[in-house]
Amino acid sequence: MDKPFVAKLRRIDPYVPGEQPQSDTIIKLNANENPYPPAPGVQNVLRTFDAARLARYPDANGRALKSALAARFGLRPTQVFLGNGSDDVLALAFQSFFCSDLPIVYPDITYSFYPVWCDLFRIPYRTLPLDDDFCIDLRDYDAPNGGVIVPNPNAPTGRGLTLDALDDLLRHNTDCVVIIDEAYVDFGGQSAVPLLETYENLLIVQTMSKSRSLAGLRVGYALGSETLIDTLEAVKNSYNSYTMDTLTLAAAEAAVRDEDYFQQICRRVIATRERTAEALRALGFVVSPSQSNFLFVTHPRKDAPAIFAYLREQGIFVRYFKLPRIDTYLRITIGTDEQMDRLLDALRSYL
Ligand code: PMP
Repeated sequence: MDKPFVAKLRRIDPYVPGEQPQSDTIIKLNANENPYPPAPGVQNVLRTFDAARLARYPDANGRALKSALAARFGLRPTQVFLGNGSDDVLALAFQSFFCSDLPIVYPDITYSFYPVWCDLFRIPYRTLPLDDDFCIDLRDYDAPNGGVIVPNPNAPTGRGLTLDALDDLLRHNTDCVVIIDEAYVDFGGQSAVPLLETYENLLIVQTMSKSRSLAGLRVGYALGSETLIDTLEAVKNSYNSYTMDTLTLAAAEAAVRDEDYFQQICRRVIATRERTAEALRALGFVVSPSQSNFLFVTHPRKDAPAIFAYLREQGIFVRYFKLPRIDTYLRITIGTDEQMDRLLDALRSYL
């Protein structure tokens, strides 16, 4: 029998991220990482960084990085919040804004971290079903709620909402905080940034893990009104003043300042995605329209777990979710053209 203290411990089902096999020989298409390196300026920061600077605490307010992000988005630095990856930003946003007794709402098929934070922070929630094409019915979001979180584009489906749809969502949800999780927006989605002028209750969360090739550095940020950003800062400063380290702040700033490189690799990923989607359809896969750096696919006659296992044996890692409504699907991250050719060859052999 367990000792009595065990009954007093927190019980929770954690989020399980995609596998991170430590091998250079596999083709890793399971965590929506970018196949290209970060902007050259990031390498330069790493090469020239003076370790003596690490003796001091970092700038708790991350002023230089906030200024770079504010300039990029046409906002004030006071409208930018920084975090240790967007998971950190989202977790703080859940704690800062979802404090009502009413349930928060989000799609039934979405980023599987949301229910984990709700459990951890004891936030009531209700999921709203996507239709059979994985589209949101905006009218489902018209009822009173404790807050809204929607990824745009959604994960793991890749489907995006238009700016008009986002405006509609916000127009019908002015009494709560609406979080748009834009982790994948740079791969062809429509950002809600233009709506920040109108909606003080809108928080946009973005990450440098995907379109800026910095998953290993851990940088996320939120954009919103001063009212929301000040609250996030207060909650963060009640928990850990220094979520961002000095080296990360410098490297992330270099990434933000290289707009040309950023645009170039996003375009490359999008082109590879479109070519791969077409090739997968030619092989009989049903491919959801994607505005992200991954494809969500199913085959009408082949079992998804079996394809997943076969690819794994070939050293190609994709993602399979054993979850209601999507357990016949695979999520495939867009790699380089060469990696996607290897994937397509393996699928041809399997089929
Ligand atoms: N939001 C969504 C929808 C995601 O898929 C991810 C990646 N797992 C994140 C946020 C978090 O990304 P990160 O913490 O690397 O910024």
